[in-house]
This record gives sequence, C-alpha cells and structure tokens, in this order.
Amino acid sequence: MHELGITEAILDIVLRHAGGARVRTVQVTVGEWTGYAGDSIELFWQELARGTAAEGARLEFRFEPATLKCRSCGTVFGANGSDLQCPQCSALGGEPAGGRDCTVDAIEVEGGDAA
Ligand SMILES: [Zn+2]
Repeated sequence: MHELGITEAILDIVLRHAGGARVRTVQVTVGEWTGYAGDSIELFWQELARGTAAEGARLEFRFEPATLKCRSCGTVFGANGSDLQCPQCSALGGEPAGGRDCTVDAIEVEGGDAA
C-alpha cells in the first residue's frame, strides 16, 4: 500500500502546476526500483483526485527499467533479475542508476499545456 504516499505527492504536483485549470492527462514515469504498481497508483488517484481539478484526469504511465552503475568501471547496465554482473568488467552489483524515481513528466490541462 505504499503507493498511497506517492499518489498524494503526484496529485500535489499536478494541482500546483495546473493552477486551477482542469487536468486532462498526467504522464508519470515509474522506475522499476520503486516497486510501485501503476494500477495501484491509479486506484488511489481516483479516490484522491475526486473533487479536485484533477478529477477524471487520465494517468499515462511510462515504465523505466532498473539499471545499475558499475562501481568499478562506471558502466550502466540493465538489472535483469538475478543477473547483476557488469558486462564490461564482470564486477558484481553496483549503484542503482536509472529507474529509481517516480516522476511527473507532463501535465495536460484544458486550454493548453501547464508543464
Ligand atoms: Zn564494470
């Protein structure tokens, strides 16, 4: 149920950018590392957005795959399940690189773009 907090954060950003305009679509990028499920966010969204300018807005999710940055050579590579070995130098693991965040990319409001 940790999607509740992120959905509140998304709604907060959206309403602030919309400045009172009716929100039509919201593009959200969900990183794989976050573990957030798009459909859970969608469910919370419908509840939280009710009665706001974002009520009825459509959420469009873009999934960002998890990648790792090798601590030894700096290569960024996909974290595919259990295969966490650097393809360049064969070091194991690394720092999470891409896919760590959940961000609002774009907001479409009636009468033009707000973001
Ligand atoms: Zn490496």
